[in-house]
Formats: sequence, C-alpha cells, structure tokens
Amino acid sequence: MRKEILAGNWKMNHGPKEALAFLKDFFVKPGENQRVILCPPYISLESMKRELPEKIELAAQNIHEEDKGAFTGEVSAPMIKELGVGITLLGHSERRNYYKESDELVRQKLKKALEHNLEVILCVGEQLEHRESGRAEQVVKKQVLSALKGLKKEDMESVHIAYEPVWAIGTGKTASSQDAQEMNAYIRSLIVELFNDKIAQETSILYGGSVKPENIKELMAMEDIDGALVGGASLDPISFAKLLDY
Ligand code: PEP
Repeated sequence: MRKEILAGNWKMNHGPKEALAFLKDFFVKPGENQRVILCPPYISLESMKRELPEKIELAAQNIHEEDKGAFTGEVSAPMIKELGVGITLLGHSERRNYYKESDELVRQKLKKALEHNLEVILCVGEQLEHRESGRAEQVVKKQVLSALKGLKKEDMESVHIAYEPVWAIGTGKTASSQDAQEMNAYIRSLIVELFNDKIAQETSILYGGSVKPENIKELMAMEDIDGALVGGASLDPISFAKLLDY
C-alpha cells in the first residue's frame, strides 16, 4: 500500500534558531502508514537532525546536479547525505520559475539524487495560463515524462510526485479537490504508461497549493491524492500539527 506523505516546505524561512523553536512546539505522531517530512533551509538541517522527534523526517529543498566543484552557493547530494538527510524536493515551481530550472535540469538532478540513494519528491504543475487555455495536462505530462523517462522500475521506489498548480502556490487559491484528483489520476496514468500498473499504484502522488486546515480533509479524501506538500501553513508548529491531524 502506498504511503501517505505530509510534507512541510519552509522555503526561505526558519534559520537554525527558529527551526529548533519550531521543534519544541511540534507534537505529531505520524500514523502507521503516514510519513511527516519537514523541508527547512539547508542551514537548519544539521541542528534539526540532532533534535528531531521520533518518526519525523527531514528533506532538503533542492540539490545541485553535480557532486562537487566550482558552483558558488550550491549544495550537492553527497553533502545532504553526509548530514543523514535522505530526501530532497526537486523541481519546485519557485526553482523552475525564479531560477529558470528547465525540465532537463530537473531530470539531471533527479538522476543525481537517485545515484546517491536520495528519495525525491518531484514537483510538477502548470501555470494559470496553461490551465485557462486547456493545456494543463500537456504541461504536466512534459514535466513528468522528462523527469522519469529512462528510469529503471526499481528507481520508482524512491520517487514521489507532488502536483502543485503554480497558480495555487502561496496565493490562497486551492485547486478544487476534483481538479486536483483529476490531475493526480492523470499523473498516475502516465506512470502506468512509463512503467506498469503496479508501480503506478505504489507511487505516492501528493497535492500542493494553499493546503490549510480547512481544506486538507476534502483533498485527502480523494482516491489519487496520497499526501500534501504544504508551504505557508507548515511554518507554525501548532497549526501545522492541527492540519496534520485532519
Ligand atoms: C509549496 O511551497 O510547495 C506550497 C504548496 O506552498 P503554499 O502551501 O504556501 O501554497
């Protein structure tokens, strides 16, 4: 049975001190089939790792596509591993849009992450103009195929996907649970085509985009929504814990 994944993406919020203060007030016990993952800025990973409550996991928000070298300001997969962190987000829309990460670059990063046995939460999602012009599926298909084509079946054990319509991120607008369900089901059908039905059924496909305590229950009730990637509403430990207890 695929796992339910509830992840909090802190983006550029909560340095080491604030991150530890968060943990002091974060009382969450993930259920048997649940994973709770916090994605702080790189600089907070090490201190959090030391104080991490049982069953709460950490992920990086990004990695570089090379192991090391002259890449000022970047952090690599082996560096994340050295801290004992085993998961990374990749292809978040803020990386794609502000830092111009292409589908090809996301593919290279994914390959690098798998080479170092990192699990990946691969983010995909269309812009508002794509949805309004009926091209949402086409855009998401391109992102998914570009990232996953050429992977071995067993690689998919380490890949989770987060569908995050860009127009819903940080805007307060959530996709309707029906629209989110339709796109997640579509992504699952792409995995069937690329691999097989068994792998598609085992892959966790999350939804992200203004998830909050008021809408999580309805989203999580959808058949193909296997978790949530939460930005703004994951920053406060008490309200995030409430959201996780949907
Ligand atoms: C995100 O950063 O992935 C996200 C979904 O943000 P928010 O929940 O704030 O829309």
